Amino acid sequence: MNIINANLKFGKIGNRKKTRRIIVHHAAATSCDAATIHRWHKERGWAGAGYHFLVRKDGWIYSLRPIGALGAHASGNNSDSIGICFEGNFDKEKMYPAQVDAGRELVAYLKEKYRISKVQRHKDVGSTSCPGKNFPFSDIVVGNTAGSGATSTGPAVTDPDKTAGKLSVDGYWGKKTTLRLQQIFGTPADGIVSNQHRCYKSQNPGLDGGWDWKDAPAGASPLIKAIQKKVGATPDGHIGPKTIKAIQRWLDSTADGTFSAPSACIKKLQEWCNKQ
Ligand SMILES: [Zn+2]
Repeated sequence: MNIINANLKFGKIGNRKKTRRIIVHHAAATSCDAATIHRWHKERGWAGAGYHFLVRKDGWIYSLRPIGALGAHASGNNSDSIGICFEGNFDKEKMYPAQVDAGRELVAYLKEKYRISKVQRHKDVGSTSCPGKNFPFSDIVVGNTAGSGATSTGPAVTDPDKTAGKLSVDGYWGKKTTLRLQQIFGTPADGIVSNQHRCYKSQNPGLDGGWDWKDAPAGASPLIKAIQKKVGATPDGHIGPKTIKAIQRWLDSTADGTFSAPSACIKKLQEWCNKQ
């Protein structure tokens, strides 16, 4: 994949502190290049083009706003998202394969780069028809399931900005704690810790509802993997004494390798979530 720097000159823009998701748009214009979008957005009094990328109909990808900069593309949703604009008006037109393929490659590249899985349409987060009723979302956004059986595509997506709230610090790791962790780590957000070894259930009463205990799990949990990477444990996607000890050390809690009920370490984990 080749990304062309459109070399646009911007006014002052701050950096984006978090990257949790990608939001896709259309230009609502049949034909437009990077410079045109830049001019339109400047005319609105912005620092310049509000999107980070433009995918043109011929399949060329342009970088507009610097990738680490705060975007201006989805009101109330810019602080943790990357904005991609597709040339065209997909309320009226259909997208041709060159553009679909380029969009798919760009989305896959960004998901990998930022270790995120969440992609939304502008209309999933705001009152707009963008990116248009013919936008081929499922052709561009593939592989969102990350093996958990959950999907993070389409309007059913849970928007962390709307649902996050604060966790109650009760020392029990149930569905709400899992969902919040999934949102923070950018893994599919279904509130379930999938594919865990049943033998650790009774040892860890602090692990409450929503744990998918199996005698012989065939897969692993993307969330546990992400947490293991964060705390320096082997990222096998399964909870167990070693991972629990690593989490306890990371949170400066007594490292005994189990989660009691209520667990002081889970309380610290919930407090950590509430600060994110
Ligand atoms: Zn839009």
